[in-house]
Amino acid sequence: MKDGTKATHAGRRPMDYDGVVNPPVMHASTILYPTYKDLQQSRVARAGDGVTYGVHGTETTFALETAIQALEGGYRTRLQPSGLVACTLPLLAYASSGDHVLITDSAYGPTRAFCNGMLTRMGIDVEYYDPLIGGGIKDLMRSNTSVVWVESPGSWTFEVQDIPTIAEKAHKAGATVIMDNTWASPLYYKPFEHGVDVSAQAVTKYISGHSDLVMGSVTCTEASYDKFQQAQTQTGICPSPDDVYLAMRGIRTIHVRLPHHMQAGLQVAEWLSNREEVAEVIHPALPGDPGHEIWKRDFLGASSLFAFILKPEYSNPVAQAAMLDEMKLFGMGFSWGGFESLLIPIDPPKLRTATKWPNNGRAEGGVMRIHIGLEDVADLLDDLDEGFARMRKIG
Ligand SMILES: *Cc1c(COP(=O)(O)O)cnc(C)c1O
Repeated sequence: MKDGTKATHAGRRPMDYDGVVNPPVMHASTILYPTYKDLQQSRVARAGDGVTYGVHGTETTFALETAIQALEGGYRTRLQPSGLVACTLPLLAYASSGDHVLITDSAYGPTRAFCNGMLTRMGIDVEYYDPLIGGGIKDLMRSNTSVVWVESPGSWTFEVQDIPTIAEKAHKAGATVIMDNTWASPLYYKPFEHGVDVSAQAVTKYISGHSDLVMGSVTCTEASYDKFQQAQTQTGICPSPDDVYLAMRGIRTIHVRLPHHMQAGLQVAEWLSNREEVAEVIHPALPGDPGHEIWKRDFLGASSLFAFILKPEYSNPVAQAAMLDEMKLFGMGFSWGGFESLLIPIDPPKLRTATKWPNNGRAEGGVMRIHIGLEDVADLLDDLDEGFARMRKIG
């Protein structure tokens, strides 16, 4: 079946619930067992396999897990209470004290903070690597390297990584490859077809799509699942049923929303590349982008989160504030993936230790991150055009 059909049908069993189209929202802690034998059997079951206790999942959580797994691939998906937990819990699951982990220098900032804080405190040796390293990762592999972390395109700077090559070298050295797959969503990148073992998603973004909840998911191959499942059970991490239900509403339309996000995003990206205030647009789906060839080879589409670099004369905070403070449609705030457009200034050098920014032949200058929502593109361009006019007055 194709993705649109999976997004609308996976995880639903209406005839089990009087024909009701959507799964019920189960608020549950205690689960009652009819007999002594049933109770004993539940104790030998693997947590998460069947409804045994509220923490371990209900028909509500299993329904969304089934839908995400159907789209993303892999063996099994488990829901997390935020996208950040979807990044941190796999690191806890696959890295142990004394291990070495390799993290792309383009990783999501809070993932870095967890590595620098908690993982380091646990005696795990954290090393950042150049996101464009490709097969060169093999020179960084050590006998105790347990995890290679990839995120593609990278947060803020959107480098496209050669994940199949990185995964092959990582596997040769016995490491687990974990990917933050949030940018592309389960629709536009199929991590398990490119050698990834564990995929983290911020469900908060395109899967939920409406800026009204935080949630994450972790999807594993069969070989990697047991280790992750144990970490999930031992930490007692679980999402709220009402948020799961809302996220489920989101996933039913993700295949209709994302093509719009992609097309609108590309239209705005092309418009921005012709602006005199803009030195360069950073969007892997634009021909000529340094990541374009790998993007075309490995991805099935592009989301609408990208960035642009301002010319030096507009890179000062006063000029940027003149634009940002009076935008009519673009909001200024964190997160993305909802129906509404966002624009924020970002500071890539702040998040780098292994590599320099700008890299990859990119221009110097202030960087803005933009998310294109579901508004009419013409109105968004008007808003940006007026914003640039305010910027020009100051710059
Ligand atoms: C937003 C985001 C996360 C974290 O998701 P939250 O639900 O906000 O915790 C993780 N990775 C990436 C790439 C993100 O953009």
